Amino acid sequence: MSAVNETLIRDVVAEVLGRLGNGATTTTSKPSPAPTPAPKSESCGCSVKKSSANPALRGKFGVFATAEEACEAAQEAFLQLKEKGVAARRKIEEIVKALAEKNAEQWGKIEFEETKIGRLDHKIAKLGLIKLVPGVDWLRPDARSGDHGITLEEYTPFGVVGAITPSTHSIPTLSGNIVNICAAGNSVVFNAHPSAAKCAAVAVRAYNEAIYRETGIENIACIIEKPSLDSFNALCKNEFTRLLLVTGGPMVVKAAMQTGKRAICAGPGNPPVFVDDTCCPTRAAKAIISGAAFDNNLLCIGEKQVFVLDHVADKLMQRMSENGAVKLNSSQLEKLTKAAFTITPGQGGGCAHAHTNKDFIGKDTSVLAQAAGINIPSGTQLLFGETDAMHPFVQEEQMMPMIPIVRVKSVEEGIALSLQSEHNYKHTAIIHSHDVETITAMARALDTTLFVKNGASPCGLGLGGEGYLSFSIATPTGEGITNPRTFTRVRRCVMVDNLRIY
Ligand code: NAD
Repeated sequence: MSAVNETLIRDVVAEVLGRLGNGATTTTSKPSPAPTPAPKSESCGCSVKKSSANPALRGKFGVFATAEEACEAAQEAFLQLKEKGVAARRKIEEIVKALAEKNAEQWGKIEFEETKIGRLDHKIAKLGLIKLVPGVDWLRPDARSGDHGITLEEYTPFGVVGAITPSTHSIPTLSGNIVNICAAGNSVVFNAHPSAAKCAAVAVRAYNEAIYRETGIENIACIIEKPSLDSFNALCKNEFTRLLLVTGGPMVVKAAMQTGKRAICAGPGNPPVFVDDTCCPTRAAKAIISGAAFDNNLLCIGEKQVFVLDHVADKLMQRMSENGAVKLNSSQLEKLTKAAFTITPGQGGGCAHAHTNKDFIGKDTSVLAQAAGINIPSGTQLLFGETDAMHPFVQEEQMMPMIPIVRVKSVEEGIALSLQSEHNYKHTAIIHSHDVETITAMARALDTTLFVKNGASPCGLGLGGEGYLSFSIATPTGEGITNPRTFTRVRRCVMVDNLRIY
């Protein structure tokens, strides 16, 4: 054994014994003792001011009147979580998943009653799916080992995350966000959609009560009881808010990007479907119905318009009719369009613009059918009708259980119109085809975050396809289907020349 290696081994043994508190060493070059670690609960290491144990924050279980109080409480909870470690993160994940499932029926009902959009059965189903959201086990450090030692890259928390949730899936988005965000060691403050805020506060309170009971952490997920644009601004500005997660339409994405804070934005979509003549029309029809009908088409990934090769269009529509969808003729479609959209004339010679009538968003097919002047069997999942490519039902993210069908002459035209109708949101697109060249061409042209082949849109979130679930799909900012790693800072720790064991 060389002298260098002998010295090295003696040093390592001495250091290990020193750390174990055994003063006995076999070397004269005694290693300096490890520094005493700072008390864990005092500081998170960031530059923001330390939170005090403010008595006004006690007993609220996450529900606060102001963004300031909520952020202060969340900062305190973040420091507590830091002290309690991975075991507490795991407990939080377990609690949120178990309570979402246990309360799915009750919470689905209160969300449905408050928002009056979507379908009760699907609101309940969405809460039962929270168990599929990835948690603590998702975070595995990356390691490198080589001649110069070992390097570890760890996924570490930011602190308080400010999160904005939509009216379309209030408790499901909030619950999935808590699993992801807290699994990564953060705490969170929500500004929910005002029309879905009461149900969100019920869930937040229940989660915090259980988390406090099991871990002693009181306000790991906070919410502003009466959210507003002012509370959004206060949340974004708060010194404790380190990161934003926004799930919603174009206005809130724009507002978040203007705050100056880093924002992860799960923005709007308008997912097109292209159907060619190589696919199975029955499978395509069933997939389109189940995706577009889910929660009355409130899903941002849900099929919103179909482009189909002319010579297979009749067959596709026939299969849709055979599988529970109802076709509107042109006059019925015209009546529904007049009710569902307000068309404002173009300014200065520009194009006319359609605005979706909120009274029809997420409503049952029976409400749409009544506006169209048609009687339909009860329990009809979806309406459809033939339109041109510039129709408001194609161009707007309409979020109604009515899907427009547009005939196209060629694959190229189908892909081009799909691209145009997606409006560069880069969110989701779907194809039904067994031709790999067509599939590849569409995938390349649309460049979307999710691209589903031969299945319904939820297959893209692990529901019938491989993968994992999230209700926040970060599209304009590029993080993709959010998961615990999305809410982390990557930090590198380098040991030079030692600890590689081979
Ligand atoms: P919305 O944009 O009306 O509201 C979303 C949230 O943003 C709400 O909390 C709302 O209060 C807030 N908000 C709206 N405008 C704001 C502004 N100017 N400043 C600050 N806050 C503002 O959306 P919605 O109707 O609740 O949800 C549907 C929209 O969300 C659709 O466009 C859908 O595609 C999108 N969405 C996207 C995802 C995704 O993962 N990408 C998931 C769900 C919903």
